[in-house]
Amino acid sequence: MAMNVKPVPAIDDEINEIRLATAEIINTQILPMEGKLWGWVSDGANASKEAVEEARELRHQIQDRVKKEKLWAPHLPREFGGMGLSFMQHAYMNEVLAYSPGAASLFGVVAPNSGNQKILLKYGTPEQHEKWLKPLTDGTMQSAFSMTEPDNAGSDPRSIQTRAVLDGDEWVINGHKWFTSNGFAAEFYIVMCRTADADGAGDTDKMTQIIVPRKTPGVNIVRGVPVWGKASSHCEIIYDNVRVPKENQLGRTGTGHQAAQDRLGAGRVYHCMNSVGSMWRAFDLMVERAMTREVHGGEKLEQKQFIQGFIADSYIDIQAARLMTIHCAEKMETGADPRTDISAIKIFVPEMYHRVVDRAIQVWGAAGVSGDLPLANMYLSARTLRLADGPDEVHRILIAKNILRRYHAGETWDFGN
Ligand SMILES: Cc1cc2nc3c(=O)[nH]c(=O)nc-3n(C[C@H](O)[C@H](O)[C@H](O)COP(=O)(O)OP(=O)(O)OC[C@H]3O[C@@H](n4cnc5c(N)ncnc54)[C@H](O)[C@@H]3O)c2cc1C
Repeated sequence: MAMNVKPVPAIDDEINEIRLATAEIINTQILPMEGKLWGWVSDGANASKEAVEEARELRHQIQDRVKKEKLWAPHLPREFGGMGLSFMQHAYMNEVLAYSPGAASLFGVVAPNSGNQKILLKYGTPEQHEKWLKPLTDGTMQSAFSMTEPDNAGSDPRSIQTRAVLDGDEWVINGHKWFTSNGFAAEFYIVMCRTADADGAGDTDKMTQIIVPRKTPGVNIVRGVPVWGKASSHCEIIYDNVRVPKENQLGRTGTGHQAAQDRLGAGRVYHCMNSVGSMWRAFDLMVERAMTREVHGGEKLEQKQFIQGFIADSYIDIQAARLMTIHCAEKMETGADPRTDISAIKIFVPEMYHRVVDRAIQVWGAAGVSGDLPLANMYLSARTLRLADGPDEVHRILIAKNILRRYHAGETWDFGN
C-alpha cells in the first residue's frame, strides 16, 4: 500500500512540492524495500552478511537520490548542507517522512544527531562547527546526548549531579549517566554538567553542556541498557575524572539548561508530527486489513461494527492530534508563546498514537505483533514517548501553571490562541 499525498491548498507551493517529492521516494524506493532495509521485517539479529551488505547498499542508493533531489537534512540551514526549511515546512515534511519508520534516517535526520546538530549550530563556535557539526552533517560522525542519570529524576533536570570543575585549561568531569542513546556508535557525547568555578566553588546550580569524545580516558561505558526486553545502545556511562579542553564547552558557562530546553521544545513538535505520520501508516494498514480479512460467516472485518468503530475512532484521534500539532507549529512559526501547546501536544499526541496503533494491532491479530509489520515497534515507541522528553505528569503540571498564572493576573484564556 502506498502513501497518498496530494497538494494541500492551505500550505505553500514549496512545501507541497517537497511533500510530493518525499512521498514519491518513500512510495517507490522505501516502502517496497522495508523488508530488506530494516531489522523489524527481516530476521534482525540473524540477518546474513549478504543481507546486511544489501541493506547498506540500498540505503546509499536512496540517500544519493535524496541528496540529488535536495531533500537532505530538512532540520538544517542551507549553509550547513540542509534544506533551510521554515519551522512549518519542516513539520509538514515530517508527517510524510514518518509514514515509513526509519525513512527519516535516509533523509539525514537521525536522533540524537539531529538534536545535537541544532545545539551545535546555535551554541557552537566556528571551530566547533568545523570539528563536530560538519562531520555530523556529512554523516561521517555519530554523536549522543548524555543528560539523564540513574540516581536523579530525569524529569527534573535541576537535580543532575554530574559535576565539571575547571582545572587550568581543562574541564574535569565526574558523574554517572544512563540512557545515553547511540552511546556505542557516537564519536562524541554532549554531556550535561553542573559546573563550578575554577576553585570548585561558586554557583554550582548552573548547568553547562560539554563535548566529550567517547575515547577520552575515564569515559567508561558500563552497558547498553536493555529496553523493552531487547539489547540497546541506550548506554549507562560513568565519567571518572574525564578531562577535556575548556574550549569543548558549548556556549557560555551556565547556558546548558537553556540549550536543553531549546533542543526539546522544538523537538517535541517535530516528534508529534512524526507520530502523526506513523499514525497514518497504522491507519492505512488497519483499513486495508479490515477490507480483506474474512472472519466468521465469510464476512469481511469491515462489515463488523466493532471494526467500523475502530476505523472511525482512529480517524478522529489522528485528525485531532494532527490539528493540535499544526496549531502549535504555527505558534512557533509566528513567535507566539507556544509553551502551553507544546505540553498539550506532548501529552495528547503520544496517547492518540498509542490508541491508533493498539487498534491496528487488534485488527491484524497475531500478525500485528509480529516482525512482519511496523506496528509492534510503533506501539513500543508510542509508549516510550509518554516518558521521554518530559513525562505526561510534568507537562500536565506545566499546562495548569501557565493557565492559572494568567487567571491570577486577572486575564482569562484567549480562545482564539
Ligand atoms: C528509549 C529512551 C531513550 C532515551 N534517550 C535519552 C538520551 O539520549 N539522553 C538522555 O539524557 N536521556 C534519554 N532518555 C531519558 C529520558 O529523557 C528520561 O527517562 C525522562 O526525562 C524521565 O526521567 P526519568 O526516567 O529519570 O524519570 P523520573 O524523573 O524518575 O520520573 C518517573 C516518573 O515519575 C513521575 N513524575 C515525575 N515528576 C513528577 C511530578 N512533578 N509530579 C508527578 N509525577 C511526576 C512520572 O510519572 C514519571 O514518569 C531516554 C529514555 C528512553 C526511555
